[in-house]
Amino acid sequence: MAQDTAEEKTERPHSEDGSQGSEKRESTERAEISNFEIVQHHFRAAAERLDLPEDVTTVMGTSYREVTVQIPIKLSDGQTHVFSGFRVQHNGARGPYKGGIRFHPEVDLDEVRALAALMTWKTAIAEIPFGGAKGGVNCPAGDLESSEKQQIARSFIDKIDKILGPTRDIPAPDVNTDAQTMAWMMDQYGKLHGHTPACVTGKPIPLEGSFGREAATGRGVVYLYREAAPVIGVKPGDTRVVVQGYGNVGSWAARIMQGLGATMVGASDAYGAIRNDEGIDAEALLDHVKEGGTLPEFEGAEAIDADDLLEIECEVFIPAALGGMIHERNADRMNCKMMIEGANSPTTPKADEILEDKGVYVIPDVMANAGGVVVSYFEWVQNLQHFRWDEREVNDKLGNIMRRAYRNVSGRAQSSEISLRSAAYELGIERVVEAARTRGYIT
Ligand code: GLU
Repeated sequence: MAQDTAEEKTERPHSEDGSQGSEKRESTERAEISNFEIVQHHFRAAAERLDLPEDVTTVMGTSYREVTVQIPIKLSDGQTHVFSGFRVQHNGARGPYKGGIRFHPEVDLDEVRALAALMTWKTAIAEIPFGGAKGGVNCPAGDLESSEKQQIARSFIDKIDKILGPTRDIPAPDVNTDAQTMAWMMDQYGKLHGHTPACVTGKPIPLEGSFGREAATGRGVVYLYREAAPVIGVKPGDTRVVVQGYGNVGSWAARIMQGLGATMVGASDAYGAIRNDEGIDAEALLDHVKEGGTLPEFEGAEAIDADDLLEIECEVFIPAALGGMIHERNADRMNCKMMIEGANSPTTPKADEILEDKGVYVIPDVMANAGGVVVSYFEWVQNLQHFRWDEREVNDKLGNIMRRAYRNVSGRAQSSEISLRSAAYELGIERVVEAARTRGYIT
């Protein structure tokens, strides 16, 4: 297994979020409540408000299919390690199952199940024709050599290929997986079924990936910021941003915000946090990370305790790391006007209440980080047509979808006097129930 090599670190910004590490992550305490409990809480509350019958609630609240496979891999320490791979297909009423695959030592079936459900609601809220799925392998991704990651990616696809395919289930990158991982997965699927680029999304550009996919989740976050900024009375020029998790999502969101005139005043990664009230150059910080540096080592800012990041006064806080980072023991410390959830399930329900009392405008994960899967949809469409759109076309179409989602969700939130999260869940659930009913899957 690799130590902290420069090569390994340069891969980090390209993984889908900022939670690259394994044991290093302990610097920021996470919530006791699991991702599964968080997602179930919001689903159950919305199902009750919508007065869904019990049988429909059961269909929507459980997975269609859950697969666990064994992945034995001989690592460079000479030992054979037996990892578990999970793929959960939550609901396919609106289209093929869709969702990322994460590599992380703490991945388990419960977490993957929760994240699969989140994908079902996310694709419905964005109104793209997919169901929801998620995958994971419980390997120590941050410590693996590239060749070891490749073996794991290929072996996982070998074992679940029967339930995958462009019309069945289409994986994508997530925590600690990236375009390279997708290239290996596409190649492995192709060995078994013939060249099938539409079998995974988030691929490298030369392998029929889509322009704009790598930036898409961060760009989607910024589109929502632009919609919400007038609501909370801020302009880009006077917006201070704090990013928790300077990985793919966080670094893209920060750089695009900076391009609009905003100032990043704090950031963190798995090794610690930094602040500079005069501003941290988002591009220089990414260059530093690409060269193998950790955030606390960055010269253009002061290293601070990871937990103190939440206290930095700012207009926009972007959680873009792992789930459960904002919880009842630290939510009160937050000092922002708006929080845009780049990560999945970063906020516990108790923290939500605290933030609401503090008047923080929360744009929830199911809408906020949908940009990634939206451009995955564009990639799939391009692959099916063997045609390529230019980046401007991708970004314009992404903007249209994110704005439409915000209009619909905020309209529902206003008319029903509920939070954006509650409104988003309600809209997503309604659309999936309608599709399942119309198909005749449920009555
Ligand atoms: N992993 C991303 C997410 O959680 C993207 C999924 C996809 O593109 O299918 O939304």
